[in-house]
Amino acid sequence: MHVPTLIARKREGEELAEVEIERLVNGFVSGEVADYQMSAFAMAVFFKGMTAVETAALTRAMILSGDVFQHPPGAPVVDKHSTGGIGDKVSLILAPLVACAGCRVPMVSGRGLGITGGTLDKLESIPGFRTGINMNEAAAILERLGLVMMGQTDRFCPADKKLYALRDVTGTVPSIPLITASIMSKKMAESLERLVLDVKYGTGAFMKTKEDARVLADGMIAVGKEMGVEVHALLNEMSEPTGRTVGNALEVIEALQCLDGGGPEDLRKVVLDLSEKIVSISRGELESLLDDGSARKKFDELVAAQGGDPADLGRLAEIHKAPVVREVKSPASGEVRAVDAGMVGQASLELGAGRARASDPVDFAVGFDQLVKCGESVSAGGTLARIHARSDAAADRAESEILRAVELS
Ligand code: URA
Repeated sequence: MHVPTLIARKREGEELAEVEIERLVNGFVSGEVADYQMSAFAMAVFFKGMTAVETAALTRAMILSGDVFQHPPGAPVVDKHSTGGIGDKVSLILAPLVACAGCRVPMVSGRGLGITGGTLDKLESIPGFRTGINMNEAAAILERLGLVMMGQTDRFCPADKKLYALRDVTGTVPSIPLITASIMSKKMAESLERLVLDVKYGTGAFMKTKEDARVLADGMIAVGKEMGVEVHALLNEMSEPTGRTVGNALEVIEALQCLDGGGPEDLRKVVLDLSEKIVSISRGELESLLDDGSARKKFDELVAAQGGDPADLGRLAEIHKAPVVREVKSPASGEVRAVDAGMVGQASLELGAGRARASDPVDFAVGFDQLVKCGESVSAGGTLARIHARSDAAADRAESEILRAVELS
């Protein structure tokens, strides 16, 4: 394999053979292919794309770069993946709910990056919660509880881990074939029977238009089909944040409300819409599992199994109390026409709830709650959102961004 030739062929838009992609990925993981060569390859893919066959080959090579889950016979193994949104705490509710519905959920999630939050950061706002567990421990928790929520280990799709780190610093994240292979390799390495994808589009998502989201969804469905996995995709608009909170601990608090049968309607709806696709029970039965405390009990068991203390869940607001808590007052009366998710996500990132670079730390306490929702009426002086900030200066900046993000009729 002559790597410069391979890169040049992709740069010219040629379709590469499956075996060439496999060798490139293996060489990258072993260190034989240099980071700068893989970065150039990623940029060539960014501009020239990949065929469905190439994307499947890249996915397969990334899966085979590490270990895959081996499940004993038993309940169906299912999962959900979201392409990332603002205020998206759906996984925290869906995983225990679907486990209560008789499925096994080996959920491998990511950290937040840019304006989108990540499930691992949210979970880690629960004191003691360990997301960095190995696959043996994960398998044991999965068999005992029917779910486990963890991060990618060094042995789990290492090719994706290494490539994502390069894409992050070379402007090559928003490429549909690279996103497809990155997401699907991790999901396929979970050895699933069914997967539901929550493909977001809009101001607060990777994919800005529904058309792009459709292309991404179709690509992921095709890869799943090729690997014998039943994949469903829902396209969900991310023009306003999901629920009323954005920020790590604040989102966990809202997820707990939903697990207790309450919480904002839009959050409960998306949880049920997605769960329905991968379970064998009815929507009504899923609702009962939220309302009767079963899903909450499962989440508490998960927290205990992964190092946390369920008793802390009721105290998260005290544990992560930001020094400045300020309400943003509406300058006028009217109906809320828009709450720009992209702007709220950016404001939350600037407060410190997210990370601009993969290596940055996150602040669990900061963000927003009490966010207004589209269609609601507010009066002058009413609350548009509540800011949780480290300093008055940070709250000042967030306040002006919220005032720009909320549009009244
Ligand atoms: N999430 C991933 O895991 N990979 C991508 O490339 C984009 C989002």
